[in-house]
Amino acid sequence: MSTITSQRVSIARRGLMLVISSPSGAGKSTIARTLMDIDKQIGMSVSVTTRARRPSEIEGVHYHFISQREFERLRASDALLEWAEVHGNFYGTPREPVEVAMSEGRDMLFDIDWQGAQQLQEKMAADVVSIFILPPTMTELQSRLHRRAEDSEEVIQTRLHNSRAEIEHWREYDYVIVNDDLNAAFDAVQSIVKAERLRRDRRHGMFDFVQELVTEVPSL
Ligand code: 5GP
Repeated sequence: MSTITSQRVSIARRGLMLVISSPSGAGKSTIARTLMDIDKQIGMSVSVTTRARRPSEIEGVHYHFISQREFERLRASDALLEWAEVHGNFYGTPREPVEVAMSEGRDMLFDIDWQGAQQLQEKMAADVVSIFILPPTMTELQSRLHRRAEDSEEVIQTRLHNSRAEIEHWREYDYVIVNDDLNAAFDAVQSIVKAERLRRDRRHGMFDFVQELVTEVPSL
């Protein structure tokens, strides 16, 4: 049903599942966090992980840090919408917050790898919009991983090595952005979100709106 508030028409629509993937260090997390700060209509899916917490990370904000045993329990009870092993640790998306957000028509952002993106595409294709972020060069990716300075050299090397396998999945995404300038990359993501929210097939309130609109057309 449409509502008119101070001359602005708001038309009910289904929530978006915005999936962002990239190799580690390409800027995906910065883009995701900035989007969360600026766009209050979008919520972030907080994953569970068996990875150790980095010093800058906060439990419940960046991840829910859980044991391997707890992860297995969640997986076995079907509480994860998707899950994957990435760089030797387990990661998964809790199902319930996503189902609640979608049923309320709210948008959600997922910072997940290509394996998770594939699983969400298979399960919820109509709601998923996927973006792949590429670094401008591998040298830049490497220096970003070093600048972050939160992982050991060994972890950085594993991530660099694994970036090739991640990058090879770029074709499976709806949009691809090369992050050679963070502001420009962020603008591109915002444009995608803006356009996707306007898609006709997502705006189920449009039918009633148009029905009402045409009744106002004067007859000859
Ligand atoms: P990091 O350890 O750097 O936080 O994340 C490593 C990788 O795991 C990133 O590519 C990130 O997007 C991915 N990841 C984080 N959470 C999830 C999740 O719930 N599911 C999947 N499939 N990947 C995730």
